[in-house]
Amino acid sequence: MKLCRYGKPGAEKPGLIDGDGAIRDLSGVIADITANVLGHGGLRRLAALDPASLPRVEGSPRYGVPVAHVGKMLCVGMNYADHAAETNAPVPEQPVLFMKATTAIGGANDTVVIPRGSVKTDWEVELGVIIGEVTRDVSVERALDHVAGYAVVNDLSEREFQLEHGGQWVKGKSCDTFGPIGPWLVTRDEVPDPQNLSLWLEVNGHRYQNGNTRTMVFGVAALVSYISRYMTLMPGDVISTGTPAGVGLGLKPPTYLKPGDVIELGIDGLGRQRQDVVAHSASHA
Ligand code: ZN
Repeated sequence: MKLCRYGKPGAEKPGLIDGDGAIRDLSGVIADITANVLGHGGLRRLAALDPASLPRVEGSPRYGVPVAHVGKMLCVGMNYADHAAETNAPVPEQPVLFMKATTAIGGANDTVVIPRGSVKTDWEVELGVIIGEVTRDVSVERALDHVAGYAVVNDLSEREFQLEHGGQWVKGKSCDTFGPIGPWLVTRDEVPDPQNLSLWLEVNGHRYQNGNTRTMVFGVAALVSYISRYMTLMPGDVISTGTPAGVGLGLKPPTYLKPGDVIELGIDGLGRQRQDVVAHSASHA
């Protein structure tokens, strides 16, 4: 099942994607895609619906974030050995974790704004994991039972803010528009093996990233288990699981986003995103 939220920012309605790729309106069934929908019971109830019985949404509305209230967004650094190598970082012995401010999160095709003063805005295609159950200290074996589904994430990153402004990476990861998620949440039953998904990213039609989740250092189950030792994961929380090689920072010479660029990215079975890159302006001040 593919769940989405569609419509203008702040006024999204819940929907599901039918077999023809059309959006079906779920707002007669649920108010929104929230924590109580993401658990096993909630998803089972939606899976029992006949999509043809739901109103078909006409036109091409915007896709919002597929979860209404993302309580926290955890990101994993250096989780592909080839990406660690291109940025001259060692392959970590334990997962490297950082937070992305939830104000950075946006829809799959929303405009990306280069922050004021930025000259090193970069891209990172990643597999996003959306938690479905309250998760504390879960074992690796049971960890995937706590996952509602998966989505494409672009973990946009300002490398100067991240690496040259002192302190933690959070400064370079949390700018507004730096967290497109979606277009859909694809439920876990449709992704039997999250460790065999191709993921790719292009800027202006040039393919920079071409990876597969099988080369993650720490897989999804290991990450959910590991993170839940340190904090409680809640339904609607998102874990972005790291990026493969091919980011702008790793190119020789490094190459960064500029106004007018178009980013396209996708993951097998999870859909694709497309973002126009624009300069910071007074309207974003
Ligand atoms: Zn990342």
